[in-house]
Amino acid sequence: MLTINPLAAFEDNYIWSLCQPDNPFCVVVDPGDAEPVLKFLQQQQKSLYAILITHHHPDHTGGIAQLQQAWPDVRIIGPAAEAAKIPLLTEQVQQGDLVQLFPFNYNFKVIDLPGHTLGHIGFYSKPYLFCGDTLFSGGCGRLFEGTAAQLHHSLQKLAALPADTIVYCTHEYTLANLRFALSVEPDNQALQDYQRHCQRLRQSDKATLPTDLATEQQINPFLRCENKALQQRYQQDTAVGLFSQLRAMKDQFKS
Ligand code: ZN
Ligand code: FE
Repeated sequence: MLTINPLAAFEDNYIWSLCQPDNPFCVVVDPGDAEPVLKFLQQQQKSLYAILITHHHPDHTGGIAQLQQAWPDVRIIGPAAEAAKIPLLTEQVQQGDLVQLFPFNYNFKVIDLPGHTLGHIGFYSKPYLFCGDTLFSGGCGRLFEGTAAQLHHSLQKLAALPADTIVYCTHEYTLANLRFALSVEPDNQALQDYQRHCQRLRQSDKATLPTDLATEQQINPFLRCENKALQQRYQQDTAVGLFSQLRAMKDQFKS
């Protein structure tokens, strides 16, 4: 078992920390800022063993240099396709590579997830998925570099993982995403219930993440594009056509 905690950064980022009770080491995912990580390591009395990076955006990479200064031997593992844009990577990985985090007995498989950025990757070790800005609870990443077809395909890869996969997204966008999702599927009972659940969490200042795939399959419109009734409602006859339309609608949506 890993103990996985969100470290809040900036407005709405989460840096995920991976620890084990009797293990002196810690791993973090997407440290956009070093401060929350340094503070956490000090509180927990842990050493930083590795940094996993999903994509090159500064809100996911901005803390790398300072963390490497504090922990010069830290492994810094990120996407080969974005290595030129990410400073200080010590290991470049791509689809199918296995990241062995020796002190943890967990090996993470690398999954290419182009769409939000072209070289975006995720890290998967049953049941844990770190998917960066690809899949959010109730939503998905914006198309900064890739096409709708690419992001749709990436989300299909994630949707094919086991239903009990725990999804560690990197932004607290859930409530805004759910307002959009309800505009798409106002009668979806599971979605209404999930919104109430997430509203309660936010009212007590708790993260709505992680989520799990089974939940997302029920409430996330971007994972529900195979649904024929939804396709009909938007006069689309393919999943990718509907996905593309929903992504464009979300960009314009005022919640
Ligand atoms: Zn991003
Ligand atoms: Fe981001």
